[in-house]
Amino acid sequence: MATASPKPARQLVMVFDLNKCLGCQSCSIACKTLWTDAPGMEAMWWNIVNTMPGEGTPRDVFSHGGGYRDGQPVPGVFPPLAQFGEAWDFDHEATFGSNGKAAFHPLQHDGTSPEWGPNWDEDMGGGVYPHSYFFYLQQICANCSKPACLEACPRTALYRREEDGIILIDEERCHGYRFCAEACPYKRIYFNSNRAIAQKCISCYPRLEAGVAPACVRQCPGRVRHVDYMENKEGHAYKLVHKWKVALPLRPDFGTEPNVFYVPPLAPYAFNEAGEFDETRSRIPEGYLEQMFGPGVEQALATIQAEREKSARGEPSELMDILIARDWNDLLGPFTENPADLDRQPRKG
Ligand code: SF4
Ligand code: SF4
Repeated sequence: MATASPKPARQLVMVFDLNKCLGCQSCSIACKTLWTDAPGMEAMWWNIVNTMPGEGTPRDVFSHGGGYRDGQPVPGVFPPLAQFGEAWDFDHEATFGSNGKAAFHPLQHDGTSPEWGPNWDEDMGGGVYPHSYFFYLQQICANCSKPACLEACPRTALYRREEDGIILIDEERCHGYRFCAEACPYKRIYFNSNRAIAQKCISCYPRLEAGVAPACVRQCPGRVRHVDYMENKEGHAYKLVHKWKVALPLRPDFGTEPNVFYVPPLAPYAFNEAGEFDETRSRIPEGYLEQMFGPGVEQALATIQAEREKSARGEPSELMDILIARDWNDLLGPFTENPADLDRQPRKG
């Protein structure tokens, strides 16, 4: 097993606000069109948004092992492609055309219906009426500080960039063993069977190097995504994670110390037996959110609620100002260059 890379000079981080996501998948499509439209990458979604509580992508996403428990690696598996959802070959005419049966399940050209795919549980939700609920969960590679993927590679094909902590795969060194994909507890590594190599989110590092925010951040109409270096103590990410403590890691029990953080969902109150709001209970079971975001979730939600109430009374709230992001450029940290402007500059070489 390879040894972990040293701590980088600074760490790229992202914060996703689950209270603002529309589930529109603009982020997923922005990533798909930019990075994964080549042969062998058809079924890759380096960025994916799933409805929770749902099984996620791949199916039953958090049950495939990997990561660490008590400091020791947990054996993991790499689910088969069908559990991620293959790239379907839709028969539009058979599904929706004049002879189509307006099938509830879309049909492929071989007459079969797909059985699983990205965000398969879209808007299904959980809970029992009137306590139904759902929220959207965005996932990319979290550039973990204790990257189980990197540590599992016998070829040292994965490396952590010294300048920003981004984890990359050296495609020349990769032999396609998929130990990294087994070891990632978030299942954020894909396999390109055309090229027999592992591939994953690269945090849009070529854009970052040009001062441009990642495509998923820039294309998000919900102003959900904040990007920055954690060392910037005046930045959104630092303030949300360390000052206000409302941005939490996903499944911290996996032990990989991810550098993507989530503002947990603040759901409406549950109802009491008289059909009135019970202000002591959320509609989302506390245990579920704690399993997802760790023991800090209760305090984080209490802080968000208190600051919302302050703001509603007309009092200033730094936290609400950060989360609302009235000027969307404030989400971008130091990566405020407009890619369209860069394209207009004469190309070198
Ligand atoms: Fe590695 Fe998975 Fe962490 Fe990304 S999310 S750094 S692939 S362990
Ligand atoms: Fe959510 Fe933004 Fe992605 Fe749309 S683009 S799914 S709002 S994170």
